[in-house]
Amino acid sequence: MPAKSWKHDCRFGAISLRVEVCWICGKRGRYEGWTYLMFEAMGVYQRLYGLKPIGPHRPLADKLYSRSTVCCTRCRGTGLIEVKNAKAFAPCDHCKGLRRLFVVSAKTRSEIRARVLQKFPEASLKTNSEIERLNQQR
Ligand SMILES: [Zn+2]
Ligand SMILES: [Zn+2]
Repeated sequence: MPAKSWKHDCRFGAISLRVEVCWICGKRGRYEGWTYLMFEAMGVYQRLYGLKPIGPHRPLADKLYSRSTVCCTRCRGTGLIEVKNAKAFAPCDHCKGLRRLFVVSAKTRSEIRARVLQKFPEASLKTNSEIERLNQQR
């Protein structure tokens, strides 16, 4: 589940922590709202690009997609907004909780994805029906 987080300008560099007071330097951080946990952020990546979140395709995918999205300003790229006086969170309605917004056409998006998959076919996410079929073959 997403949790609240605070940005710290720590002596080791800028880090996000789940606590207001840094346990390294003892200073208070800047509240940045609700943010996804790491595996949730990986799920967001899959939904956004239709590619696996980790793997050898990432440098190429990151390069090709670099100018195709912008950070959602409504949720400041967290994908989440505060509700109920910050006691709870909800997916951002502007980016649908995906943190970023595409600034290119759907055609360009699928062309970029195709270029990534041409080089790294294993980066494709298997659909549920594909997984079912594989299980039946076993
Ligand atoms: Zn610190
Ligand atoms: Zn948003």
